[in-house]
Amino acid sequence: MNYAEEIRRLAKEKDALILVHNYEPAEIQDVADICGDSLELARKAKEADAKTLVICGVYFMAETAKILSPEKTVLIPRPDAGCALADQLTPEMVREAKAAHPGAPFVVYVNSSAATKAECDITCTSANAADVVRSLKEDTVLFGPDANLAAWVRKNVPEKTVITVPEDGGCPVHHKVTVEEVEAARKEFPNATVICHPECSPAVQEASDMIGSTGYMIRNCGEEKEWIIVTECGILHPLKKHYPETIFHGIEAVCDHMKLITLKDLYETLNEGKNEVIVEKEIADSARKAIERMIEASA
Ligand code: SF4
Repeated sequence: MNYAEEIRRLAKEKDALILVHNYEPAEIQDVADICGDSLELARKAKEADAKTLVICGVYFMAETAKILSPEKTVLIPRPDAGCALADQLTPEMVREAKAAHPGAPFVVYVNSSAATKAECDITCTSANAADVVRSLKEDTVLFGPDANLAAWVRKNVPEKTVITVPEDGGCPVHHKVTVEEVEAARKEFPNATVICHPECSPAVQEASDMIGSTGYMIRNCGEEKEWIIVTECGILHPLKKHYPETIFHGIEAVCDHMKLITLKDLYETLNEGKNEVIVEKEIADSARKAIERMIEASA
């Protein structure tokens, strides 16, 4: 069976929109209606007219789509695709931090569960974290679960006090990249510009020429002839598609959860309408306020 053709046929027949994250395997990105970073996928999920949304990414992304479009059916081909970063911040940790810092709003990275978001004041993505923190009137903000993204926000919004919860949270895929790896890549490709994701450590951020989300990379990495891309390797596919004349070098960074979905999984999910994402109404209603507040703050 030609899965790619069958997936496109089924998507049309079932009025389904396929939304795919930039870190997914190339063949999944190639059957998408929309590819993007977390913020772009959240926006498109909210605006979409389709009856069904199929989210090819990790579970919190599918929850976000369901929260923003409660009337739609949201499916995820691999419900076991989790996120090691999202697991590091629980609703209890948010409640405890808020009790310890009364009046400080909690800014939660979208890489978190629906139940955790429901306890927070506003969400952010790596594309808009600094803008979101800047938009708040309070001088002190709580921020989690990514301490590296928090460090980047602190640098860009020095007028605020940013308290990280937990103190040392981080994405294992990005956090394990070292300055030595970046320097070795620079030595090998001396004419390339280095751009890293803000989930990388502050030392790697310091060793890079530019810092940005995957959406930022896709919008901006056509301007130079050669790049070293310091983020999950899936991003190389859309970059090469957007800028066929440009040379891109990656580093060794693979998120296993982003590589779980196969064309067969996607086909079966669409065909059988299985793996529906359900978010409890009370949690969805609270989490929606935090996500919509972010969308307004970064409009
Ligand atoms: S790359 Fe990191 S933050 Fe993104 S889904 Fe994988 S574990 Fe989570």
